[in-house]
This record gives sequence, C-alpha cells and structure tokens, in this order.
Amino acid sequence: MENLLTEAELSFKKDVREFVNKELMPHVEEWESRKEYAKESVKKIADYGLFGIMVPPEYGGLGGTVTEYLIASIEIARASVSLASIFGSPAGIFTDAILNFGTEEQKKKYVPAVISGDMIACFAVTEPAAGSDAANIATTATRDGDEWILNGAKAFITAGDVGDVVLVFATVDKSLGTRGITAFLVEKGTPGFTVGKVEELLGLHASSAAELFFRDCRVPASAVVGEEGKGLRIAFASLDLGRIHVAGQAIGLAEAALEATLTYTADREQFGRPIGNFQGVQWMLADMSVMVDAANLLALRAARMADAGKDYGAAAAKAKLYAAESAADVARKAVQLHGGYGCTRDMPVERYYRDAKLIEIYEGTNEIHRAVIARSLRS
Ligand SMILES: Cc1cc2nc3c(=O)[nH]c(=O)nc-3n(C[C@H](O)[C@H](O)[C@H](O)COP(=O)(O)OP(=O)(O)OC[C@H]3O[C@@H](n4cnc5c(N)ncnc54)[C@H](O)[C@@H]3O)c2cc1C
Repeated sequence: MENLLTEAELSFKKDVREFVNKELMPHVEEWESRKEYAKESVKKIADYGLFGIMVPPEYGGLGGTVTEYLIASIEIARASVSLASIFGSPAGIFTDAILNFGTEEQKKKYVPAVISGDMIACFAVTEPAAGSDAANIATTATRDGDEWILNGAKAFITAGDVGDVVLVFATVDKSLGTRGITAFLVEKGTPGFTVGKVEELLGLHASSAAELFFRDCRVPASAVVGEEGKGLRIAFASLDLGRIHVAGQAIGLAEAALEATLTYTADREQFGRPIGNFQGVQWMLADMSVMVDAANLLALRAARMADAGKDYGAAAAKAKLYAAESAADVARKAVQLHGGYGCTRDMPVERYYRDAKLIEIYEGTNEIHRAVIARSLRS
C-alpha cells in the first residue's frame, strides 16, 4: 500500500502509528482482559483529533479524506480491532450520516460533541429478528403531535451500553416497506429508552455490543434525521463507508498477525533450525503476505473512489469481503505457525484469531457481501 500513498498520506500514516504505539498499544492487553468498552481510549483518540478526521473544520474536524480514514482504521486495528471499532462509528458512519442528512441544529449539537469524545455515538439498525435483512426492521415510530413514540428492540449495538446518543432506525409504517424506514436521534436518559443485555462476545473484548429497548419512548420531531421514509438510504450510504473502515480493521489485524508470525518463525527452532527456514512454513508466510497486499489494494481502491465522488458501493463490498476472509485465513495460519503457544492468551495471535471471526459477520456477513457484489455485476 505504501507505494501508492502520497507523501502527505505516508506522513499521516507514520504519525498515527506513533500515536497508536505510544498512547494505545501499552494499554491494549489490560483493556482487552477487562472485557468492557475501553472508555479511556475514547479521550485519547479524540484528543489526537482522529474522530474528526473526515469532519469539515467548521464542525471542529480535520477535513480529511476517506483514504485517511482507512489509514487510521488500519493503524488502530494493528493494535486492537476493539479500539478500531470504537474509532469507526464516531469518525465515520455516525458523523457521516448527521453531516449528510441532518439539520444544521443536529450537526452543531452532535458532531463537535462526538468528535471531541464528550458524547459516545451508536448506530442502531440490527434487531433480534432483522440482521442481514435490515429492511425488515420491526421497531415502530408513531407520530403524536410534535413528538414521535418509538417501540421496539435493537440487538448487537456497538457501544450500546455506554452510548450517549443513538441513531435509531424505525418504521413509521410497516406497509410502506423500505419506504417507511426513518432515522431518529435518541439520547441516553430519554424515558422509555433502556439498555438490555451486553453480549459476551467471542472477540472484540475491549469494545461492547448491547441490546437496546424502546418502550413508548418519546422524542421530539426535531430528532428525525433526513426525510421521513428515507432512513434506509441513510443506513446504506453510511454502511458503504463503514465497509471501508471494517476492511481497514481486517487489514490492520492481518498485518499484525503476519508481523508477529514472521518474528516467531524466525526465533522458534525445531529440528535444529528456525521453523521459518522450512519451505512449508515459508509458503504459508508468502500466502499471508499476498492476502495482506491484496486486501490493502482493494480497500485503497474503494477509498480512492469514495474520495473521487464515484459510486463505490460494490468496491467497498469487495474490499470488506476479501479483507475479512483473508484476515480470518491469515489469523488461522498465524495461530498454526505459533503451534501450541499460539493457542494461549500469552500470544496476540490468539486474539487476532477470535477477532477475525467477528469481522466476517458485522457490517454485513460474507454471504451478504457476495449478494451485493453479484447484484452489482448485473446492473
Ligand atoms: C460485534 C458486533 C457488533 C455489531 N455492531 C452493530 C451496530 O453497531 N449496529 C448494528 O445495527 N448492528 C451491529 N451488529 C449486527 C451485525 O450487523 C449483524 O450481526 C449482521 O448484519 C448479521 O445479522 P444476524 O446476526 O442477524 O445474522 P443473520 O442475518 O440471521 O444471518 C445468519 C446467517 O445467514 C446468512 N444469510 C442471511 N441471509 C442470507 C442470504 N440472503 N443469502 C445467504 N446467506 C444469508 C448470513 O450470512 C449468516 O451466515 C454487530 C454485530 C456484532 C457481532
């Protein structure tokens, strides 16, 4: 990837890596072992300015590019995918949705607060019975004078247990199908809004995913984001951007797994020589390296297309799908090449292996990405 970045992008990448190594990396093992959302990381990332990477300066951001967002996602994920997931929504899908579809009042209220780390933001589409089939959500919003009344449940919402504001997708009229879905901003403490179970996940132990409940939860008409009935457009536009970020998560993880494995196979000796001297091992390392490079190229292409204002939906889906599957493969090979030690908590590859599985599921499963890509081939 380095060869294809501009001087300014390379310098940004170097700076972010230094920040991650100094401010985040030393805490990763402790935060992961606590198995709760690492709130401390929010302030650190915010203070460095990264949440505002793509936000225009008039809202307190750096006015950067999607490519820089991808670079930052990769660099943070090299330390921890949990932390990259904490970074992803405030820096990307949440602020992007508000900036592109929100009112001036919503932009002024939420964007500076979220990128400064004063507010934690969540993005809530998934429901217990509507995951891949996001258009089938059952949470309802009923108009009552100047207010809307929300009823329903959301599932697996990143940072749901610690969030201060949630962008909730609900249907104002189920008979309208996708044209009934509308987006609402709901703040923590709003009567009728509660947090349910916080999931015990296979990986991403320094992040969190929680159930959210809305029972006769009243929000003002000013809480609607975008036009009534156009919520799915907001969700899908933001998720395209989210896919570039999640590809970055997978790439950062795979790069870290490859580097750990190169070091280990150079040090570990069996049969009187480093295991990295065996051709069978070298071929696995070569395959891992090709996958890391290919994922980087696909993600960079999608980011460059987004920056150029082109339709990048299919490119983002290809990047996310390939990066997720290859990260899972790279992590599996990394554990294999660490032998028994790779299965212990003493080795980071054990965490990479667990985290990689989750990347194949959220922000659209591998199967859904194949469906999106196949559809794009016909259009
Ligand atoms: C750690 C984590 C964080 C998350 N964070 C958020 C969040 O912040 N906000 C949010 O809204 N959601 C979030 N999610 C939810 C996530 O987006 C969903 O889990 C995902 O979309 C899959 O939905 P599901 O779990 O209901 O699986 P299902 O949709 O039930 O899928 C089950 C299986 O069936 C397959 N399948 C389904 N439909 C098809 C089809 N048409 N063709 C072929 N195969 C199919 C799937 O690929 C999968 O293998 C998160 C999930 C996790 C695990």
